[in-house]
Amino acid sequence: MDGNAPDPKYWEKMRLVAEVLRAVEGPIYIATHVDPDGDAIGSSLGLYRALKALGKDARWVAEPPRFLRFLPKEEEYSDPVDKLPPGATLVALDSAEPSRVVGVPVEGFVINIDHHGTNPRFGHLPVVDPSKAATAQMVKDLIDLLGVAWTAEIATPVLTGILTDTGNFRFANTTPEVLKVAAELVGYGVKLAELTDRLQFRPPSYFRLMGQVLSTVAFHFGGLLVTAHLPEEAKREEEDSDDFVGLIRYVEGSVVSVFLRKREEGVKVSIRSRGGVSAQNIALKLGGGGHVPAAGATLKGVDLDRAYEMVLEAVQEELRRAGYL
Ligand code: 5GP
Ligand code: MN
Repeated sequence: MDGNAPDPKYWEKMRLVAEVLRAVEGPIYIATHVDPDGDAIGSSLGLYRALKALGKDARWVAEPPRFLRFLPKEEEYSDPVDKLPPGATLVALDSAEPSRVVGVPVEGFVINIDHHGTNPRFGHLPVVDPSKAATAQMVKDLIDLLGVAWTAEIATPVLTGILTDTGNFRFANTTPEVLKVAAELVGYGVKLAELTDRLQFRPPSYFRLMGQVLSTVAFHFGGLLVTAHLPEEAKREEEDSDDFVGLIRYVEGSVVSVFLRKREEGVKVSIRSRGGVSAQNIALKLGGGGHVPAAGATLKGVDLDRAYEMVLEAVQEELRRAGYL
């Protein structure tokens, strides 16, 4: 089976999810992936608010990065838990693997809503549709099916997820359907200009860090691959380094870009691609996963030099497959 194919039973499954969530009386935990991005936080916060509006005992376990902290209110967070109470329901959002779910154990009745083709369709009720631009787009459908009345408070995080994963409607996943959904969400009172502006805010240290990162830019395979890394001495600013791969991917002539960050557990790599090259294939070779144009992996127990070697090897293989070498 092609993991990246749309799910023909999408609506049937989503209707079932809505029915289950409506019937649940116990606690519903909502969680997302480690290193959460705008889609992770947006889709999970949007669903949390919708379930609260339905009167459910919903709990949102997440730790938003600094640039997304303006979205939730303090009292909306729940602390991470080691164990779920008996009878609990877990909704995992935007999580390509059970091991990527953070803050809660993957147990109880597990609903898995995601758009990563590499998702193994874990859980009791997986709804995985890689043709969706964002998990937030799927949550939009789910909230409609739940019959919750839309408010700006619910629509804002949902639109945030769509904005993030489509690169503000620039990437190939920006279908007419996505634009229609976005228009509808704006119609519920989202302040679009304010939101997109706010999403770009970074602390002053970020801009200094950008200079350091850009000084590491290197070109390989005649410029087909562009790489950069977070310099060791800049490690404590790590939280702000999330979107540097989005910066280097625009080097003329490049078809793959990779950003590397050394962490305690290994080296985290972020991969972007175009022109028939699959970032997903590269990530899979490195033990990670993701989408065809945007994917990632963590290379456990290696240093930066070894990580570069592994990346070059995996990229070379994919460039060959795609006919560039
Ligand atoms: P980023 O480079 O922005 O961290 O991730 C790009 C995409 O790949 C995201 O959709 C993210 O969820 C996915 N991704 C990143 N790292 C991993 C990983 O280690 N494993 C899997 N399965 N997916 C990943
Ligand atoms: Mn996503």
